Amino acid sequence: MSRQRSALVVGLGVAGMASAIGLRRAGWQVTLIERAPQRRLGGYFIGLFGTGLSAAKRLGVMADLHTRTPKNAKTWDVTRAGDRHRINGFLEQPGDPQGVLRGDIEAALFENLGDVEVRYGTVPTAIVDVGGGAIVTTQNSQTGEVRDERFDLVVGADGVRSTVRRLVFGPHERYLKPLHAMICAFQLDKQVPYFPVNDGHRARRAGPLVVGVSVRGPPADRPLFLPHP
Ligand SMILES: Cc1cc2nc3c(=O)[nH]c(=O)nc-3n(C[C@H](O)[C@H](O)[C@H](O)COP(=O)(O)OP(=O)(O)OC[C@H]3O[C@@H](n4cnc5c(N)ncnc54)[C@H](O)[C@@H]3O)c2cc1C
Repeated sequence: MSRQRSALVVGLGVAGMASAIGLRRAGWQVTLIERAPQRRLGGYFIGLFGTGLSAAKRLGVMADLHTRTPKNAKTWDVTRAGDRHRINGFLEQPGDPQGVLRGDIEAALFENLGDVEVRYGTVPTAIVDVGGGAIVTTQNSQTGEVRDERFDLVVGADGVRSTVRRLVFGPHERYLKPLHAMICAFQLDKQVPYFPVNDGHRARRAGPLVVGVSVRGPPADRPLFLPHP
């Protein structure tokens, strides 16, 4: 009988959990390490298009995915003078995207993680290619424990400034392309005054653009599913 192959996935985000579920279903033994001391909740608005929806179906997480597209929503462009003009909102784009929050996707994936060992507060500090696999040194920030383990595969799913990429391929500066733009996204407790509760809006000035997107359901910083014990 062939040996069960082992994978280390670094990062408990959308990419990390999707990889872990896929690998586990393909028969791999999966260990997942996450820098944060516990699962990160919340997140901003995302439009789930056809590719994302079919990935969610293939991963078997659709039943747990909470979508938030509001009913009968309209989107308004607000001029400097305060006039409103009806425009196509983000969720009215071709492709029929579904409104979700990042935390919704992560909650659905986490529900379906299954038999994956998750180690929180743990980061990789060295990765050595040994041909057909890698020896990975990890450190736990809470206990200080350092481990050297061999894995057949290492998946770097640790975000834009990936430590895995830095350890294996070199400094971030070699790979990051600055766009010289900044996005700030946050949730409002209630609708902007004078707009119906489901409606979105857009206000444009010479420089910045402000976009308000309406979503339904509980706030994302409230876990939709309780974390596994
Ligand atoms: C305003 C905004 C709108 C967006 N809209 C869309 C959209 O409409 N459609 C779309 O597809 N995408 C959208 N995105 C992008 C999408 O949300 C992100 O690309 C996606 O969440 C990234 O997932 P990820 O798993 O790759 O990384 P992350 O979500 O960044 O997860 C990385 C995980 O790795 C952990 N980690 C980091 N470093 C280490 C380490 N050294 N060791 C261990 N763990 C580590 C982190 O704590 C984190 O849990 C949007 C992004 C923004 C900012």
